[in-house]
Amino acid sequence: MGDTKGTCGVNAARLVERFCSLVAVDNPSYGERAMADAVSGMLRALGATVEEDGAAAIVGGSAGNLIARIPGEAGLPTVGFCAHLDSVAPAKGKRAVVFDDGTIRSAGDTVLGADDLSAVAALLEAVCVLREQGIAHRPIELIFTVCEEPYTKGSRALDVERLTAREIFVPDLTGAVGTAAIAAPTILALTVTVTGRASHAGFAPEAGIHAIAVAARALTRCTLGHVDEDTTVGFGIIHGGTASNAVPERCVLEGEIRGYDDARAWEECRRLQDIFEQECAAAGAAVTVAVEERTRAYTVGADSAIARRFADACAAIGVQPTQVRTFGGSDANTFAARGRDTLVIANAMSSVHSVEEFTTVDELARLCALLIELMR
Ligand SMILES: [Zn+2]
Repeated sequence: MGDTKGTCGVNAARLVERFCSLVAVDNPSYGERAMADAVSGMLRALGATVEEDGAAAIVGGSAGNLIARIPGEAGLPTVGFCAHLDSVAPAKGKRAVVFDDGTIRSAGDTVLGADDLSAVAALLEAVCVLREQGIAHRPIELIFTVCEEPYTKGSRALDVERLTAREIFVPDLTGAVGTAAIAAPTILALTVTVTGRASHAGFAPEAGIHAIAVAARALTRCTLGHVDEDTTVGFGIIHGGTASNAVPERCVLEGEIRGYDDARAWEECRRLQDIFEQECAAAGAAVTVAVEERTRAYTVGADSAIARRFADACAAIGVQPTQVRTFGGSDANTFAARGRDTLVIANAMSSVHSVEEFTTVDELARLCALLIELMR
């Protein structure tokens, strides 16, 4: 079967059915057991070998990452694909509704879970089409991660050295099918703890060191939002104090720094740390700044081998390839940090992380056709 122009090789009805059946499975982060079992079952039915790693214990969830392998033509390099099994809340009791115009939405009270189940369904359908049409293809490695939504915890627990694929496509991006992200940011999570001294606010306020006031002085010195075109700083949570009649001993702020340039992100981090240290020292308070690197920035050459292969696959199905930058993290950050060639690609999902999330039958079919091309 040589003809895969357009989406004619794809059984759209079966793909939609597969997608809807996956949507019906509960898949909150840390609670992917039912989804991992459903996907493993489908993979084995397609002749894949499936292993589950030990990520469940590492992340504190109910399932590990799945690694499925489908043998291909000898002599061809293995191609990898990674999609995540979890969806953001509300991800329980999901039900897909297919409308006459071809859009697919949730019943309205949950997310749809096209992020990232459209990718999971399209990957499974692509393998199914290769098998039933006897299309020659590369050896395929499918990685299905858990806990992607909480800052790629699942993939960070994956032993990437177990993977054979040097080239890994990550369908986990909004935008028209054919879109690929060639840059993704470093994300640093910050927890700043200011410790002053508790005292009665009426009897002996002078004996206290007001942690909230000290934190506020520091915070007003921080530049928030875009600190340059490619870097943002934000604090989203602040809590402190225990009683309205006490000088608060502690104030904790949680925030993040995001930037396309890893060194710049860390520079901003040090700048914030300096500000808090100066204000705390001036007031006699103590401060700790805990920083966790959640993802590390990477770029992909616009004309690199993986970008070219993606563009060729788009051309083969008559889709315009488009390169963008994404300001979100994904499992691709994990693979890039471990030296793999990786590309995040659009996977037929829109208005993600909301109950308005939707996909369409046409985009799902195009995604599947594109994945088949990348597997050939
Ligand atoms: Zn996603």
